[in-house]
Amino acid sequence: MVNIMGEKVANDIFVVRQEMRPGWTCNVVLVFGEDKIGVVDTGYENTGEDYVFPLVLEQGRRLDEVSIIVNTHRDGDHIRGNAVFKERTGAPVVIHELEMEAVPTADAKLGDSVTLGDRVFKVIHTPGHRPGAVCLYDEGSKLLLTADSVCGTRENLIRMDKSIYIDSLKRLLELDVEMMIMSHPFGPPGKDVLRGDEARQMIEASLEIALNLK
Ligand SMILES: [Zn+2]
Repeated sequence: MVNIMGEKVANDIFVVRQEMRPGWTCNVVLVFGEDKIGVVDTGYENTGEDYVFPLVLEQGRRLDEVSIIVNTHRDGDHIRGNAVFKERTGAPVVIHELEMEAVPTADAKLGDSVTLGDRVFKVIHTPGHRPGAVCLYDEGSKLLLTADSVCGTRENLIRMDKSIYIDSLKRLLELDVEMMIMSHPFGPPGKDVLRGDEARQMIEASLEIALNLK
């Protein structure tokens, strides 16, 4: 198996990518704090053992430093690793309350904010792809994790009424964003880490695509 190690995108943040099919990846985001580690999404059953845990250990850290695991929404490529992550780290899985029933491996519901590593992220409810989909926003560094909530050219991922998705995108456009991390390399940019103006352009492009849908 090809082991694509993580990309360090900030001092304390790694994006760990797993290939789902040629040219298409899903990722897990790790936030390394002084003495605790936050995890966003868990990928597939093998994602922890094959991709994430080796990276944590390679950083000289321990798996039991993982203090919390956030699921951004219910889909398989974001939650199927939950059981393994929980077993190996001892950390609880938290998810938006509207996704809890669909994800039996979740332990608790997300509040208005969540601490990952040494960062406090605001939880922004962004339905459209899924009813309880969330984005995480660190106001201090202007970092936004959007998972699948901004899906650009993949309009088939808008699984709810498009007006709900559009409303979510408009609220994201109110944020000041320096870096945006998505769970997949959505088009138009075709990559999952966007910096500076690229973030706003992606949200605006997604809005435009949605507005033009019948
Ligand atoms: Zn996904």
